[in-house]
Amino acid sequence: MKINETNLQFKNLEKRAKTDRVVIHHTAGNRNATVADIHQMHLNNGWVGCGYHFFIRHDGTIERGRPEWAVGAHSLTVNARSIGICLAGDFTIYQPSEIQLVSLEWLINSYLLHKYPLINIVGHSDTDSTQCPGILFPLDKFKNITSQLVKLIVNGRLVNVPLRIMDGRTEALLSDNWVQLRELANMLGADISWDELTRTVNMSIK
Ligand SMILES: [Zn+2]
Repeated sequence: MKINETNLQFKNLEKRAKTDRVVIHHTAGNRNATVADIHQMHLNNGWVGCGYHFFIRHDGTIERGRPEWAVGAHSLTVNARSIGICLAGDFTIYQPSEIQLVSLEWLINSYLLHKYPLINIVGHSDTDSTQCPGILFPLDKFKNITSQLVKLIVNGRLVNVPLRIMDGRTEALLSDNWVQLRELANMLGADISWDELTRTVNMSIK
């Protein structure tokens, strides 16, 4: 699998300072659309070009949209801190193709997570008031990719508590409340560090 580079021309783009989310979208339209179609559509909207950073066609082809370093135009609330991926199709009516989901998984696991270890995977409906990416898109499965990847080690031992990353910070579910590990460490006077490669929080309590 690979990212197919495209030669889309953009007017002017702004550099994105932060990347802590990946937002998944559907086109809510024609399942045969390509990134070039979306680029033209967004230009027609008066935008600088395709608002998504990646596009996955119905046949699973991954295409590059807006350059990865640029602020996208795909989710009003998190454009400044996120990468947008759009899948061709309307998943309020039918499911994405199997190969589209395989491509999406590859893009997240084999590419994005290596480059941006702290990202959270979310759906557009998590960041704005919308049905996108549609009720028939398996959003939970993709959100779990990142939430399940974080590990917590306290004094050298793996601790088995539910963990998630919110706004770039790791939280643990303790007595039904999500608690920021850094705050917890501060309270306990413990040392805390993050290992990007293994997505592990190391805490050492003296
Ligand atoms: Zn969307």
